[in-house]
Amino acid sequence: MKYLITGAAGFLGSALANRLVLEGHHVRGLDDLSTGDPAKLSPDVFFTRGDINDRPKLWSLLQDVDCVFHLAARVSVPESMLYPRDYNTVNVGGTVTLMEAARDVGIKRVVFASSGAVYGNQKNPLLREDAEPKPRSPYAVSKLSAEYYIRTIGGLAGIDTISLRIFNAYGPGQHIPPAHAPVIPSFLRQAMRNGTIVINDDGTQTRDYVYVDDVVNAMMSAGTSPKINNMIFNIGSGHDTSIKDLLKVILEVTGGKPQVVFNQKADSGVKHMRADISLAGKKLNYKPSIMLENGLKLTLERDPNIKTFKIDEI
Ligand code: NAD
Repeated sequence: MKYLITGAAGFLGSALANRLVLEGHHVRGLDDLSTGDPAKLSPDVFFTRGDINDRPKLWSLLQDVDCVFHLAARVSVPESMLYPRDYNTVNVGGTVTLMEAARDVGIKRVVFASSGAVYGNQKNPLLREDAEPKPRSPYAVSKLSAEYYIRTIGGLAGIDTISLRIFNAYGPGQHIPPAHAPVIPSFLRQAMRNGTIVINDDGTQTRDYVYVDDVVNAMMSAGTSPKINNMIFNIGSGHDTSIKDLLKVILEVTGGKPQVVFNQKADSGVKHMRADISLAGKKLNYKPSIMLENGLKLTLERDPNIKTFKIDEI
């Protein structure tokens, strides 16, 4: 099959692109390289640098494509609070541009990387797709709006659309920005360096951490499974882990001795998140197979930005 992946040089996009070409598919990748790195991509991926709001570029990249995976986005919850306009332009505006171009070209299917962040704080911490979304950040709002645009334009234009609400994905190749870094790669790196790890709030907040290969399996299945038009699926591990417990496993896996500091006054965001993955199990045959400890070991082995050095090795 022929695929276009937007955000292809990113963490999830590059993992998906590399798996698809390994399985013999033709893959085009678009990314503006604002955070992505094309060096992560197999040479068999046809890479184009460009912005998701560039409709003429999308028209040519979409020719003969069977399915689009739409991952291009600004991805940081705290950053979105500082720059909501940018998040609206890229995550919402970029999605509308892509859907218009997909309509013009006659694309049959679009799979969208949405987020578990759309749920916000819910009474029942086991999150099902039919819970009423309560977004708490411009990032979450942008993902929810994009879901609506994808489904609405898809419905009007006869494009099958599928939204995957991905929870906290981790694994090798995750971008580590200088500020607001995702928790797993930054904890791993700090543990390896015997540096300082800051835990916001009291560390009892929980998240559902899902390994990148499991997310890739879900995306590939969403690209081809029949009878899933217009559907939304949670993609997580189905387990929740508190930050304190995550830290324990990271200390075991790395053998590091970082200094741990609690920032009690910091807002830890949504209190509890755990994905109910039964719908994805039924319709996408999704079965996450890599549990946290194993996933952390794989990340440590395979990510050159984390496995740098231990302080006692200098
Ligand atoms: P990432 O930042 O590594 O990937 C996003 C990519 O989009 C980057 O390579 C970036 O350069 C590119 N991009 C940003 N603005 C662009 C623009 N204007 N035009 C073209 N490309 C642009 O993040 P990721 O973790 O790989 O996330 C991929 C997708 O999955 C995102 O849509 C994100 O919201 C979603 N998601 C990720 C997670 C997670 O835990 N990683 C969880 C939920 C949802």
